[in-house]
Amino acid sequence: MRYLTSDIIFTAFSSPIYDGVLVVDDEGRIVDLLDDKQQIDNANLEYFKGALCPGFINTHCHLELSHLQGELAPKSGLPHFINSIGQIRKASQRRKDDALKLADRQMYNNGIVAVADISNTADSFSTKANSAIYYYTFIELFASNPHKAEEVFERGLKLSQECSTPNSLTPHANYSVSLPLFEKIRHHNKGEIISIHSQETPEEDTMFLKGSGQLLSQLIAKDFFKYTGKTALQSTLPLLPESPILLVHNTFTKEEDMSEAISNFDKLYWCTCPKANLYIENQLPNYQQFVDAKAKMTIGTDSLASNDTLSILEEMKTIQAHVSLELLMEWACKNGAEYLGLDALGTFQKGKMPGINYINHIVDGKLSSDSQVKMLF
Ligand SMILES: [Zn+2]
Repeated sequence: MRYLTSDIIFTAFSSPIYDGVLVVDDEGRIVDLLDDKQQIDNANLEYFKGALCPGFINTHCHLELSHLQGELAPKSGLPHFINSIGQIRKASQRRKDDALKLADRQMYNNGIVAVADISNTADSFSTKANSAIYYYTFIELFASNPHKAEEVFERGLKLSQECSTPNSLTPHANYSVSLPLFEKIRHHNKGEIISIHSQETPEEDTMFLKGSGQLLSQLIAKDFFKYTGKTALQSTLPLLPESPILLVHNTFTKEEDMSEAISNFDKLYWCTCPKANLYIENQLPNYQQFVDAKAKMTIGTDSLASNDTLSILEEMKTIQAHVSLELLMEWACKNGAEYLGLDALGTFQKGKMPGINYINHIVDGKLSSDSQVKMLF
């Protein structure tokens, strides 16, 4: 048995405990949580200056894009980003494999215990299957041309069979998936989780509300697109299966849009990728509206094509000016585990084995720019 004590223990499900003790067995299973370290003989206590928290859950990554680090111009907007990524995606498998393994290692070293990861190809499958991290794979489908729906769907099914981590078919985004392809995904889904990019650029709403804009003009199959006169979010949610749904980015989601979504749809989770948002659109979501609406928020790193690190801690530093660290811990640990259905992860509750992260350089109860994470279990 080990007795870990720290200035702050973030449980991710209740108020933080100051000078408490986390009692764990040799494998890191939570045996008890004590709110007073006087209860334990001093000689048995292991003190960590700073804070302890559960292992982080990264709810949005594209591991297979890891070799694109630094290749795409920052702050040029999503339409430009999408245009460029198709052109530079190609690289040798060797170079991709090296980048994949490094990225996986980086996440592990940054205290990440589970990742919801997007795949458009089989490139990352073996890295994920052999990782110490739990991966859930979204086989992501896109084709705005309805005549391509069958072919793209069949290719997705084949990839799904090749993938040895838990996985499901998911649509890329509202603007890149035709109605027949949405229908195929919905029909095939038997309650598996879904993840979709949503309102990452203001162009999405322009496209759906007015049937115009830059995003629409660069769609290959724009002639098939019928605008709805509703926001991108309201246009998309009815097309999705009745499963837990993760909406990724939400940078330009407005308050009324969000509250309407929450009141009409169960099991909605929201993922923010602040560093990628700054990289691509140079804009952060309005976090206060998500806090006010008690939205189930989670945190993602997105890929190294639009980020310089794969670290939930670095994402938290970026959001910390807007959201309390206590609540951020719920976003970074508890909500993501709940979305992924990983009952043993996410919080310091008895019987769980959530991974234990030690964070140093905590100043006045907050992360500092020097804060680093070390995984103890
Ligand atoms: Zn993404």
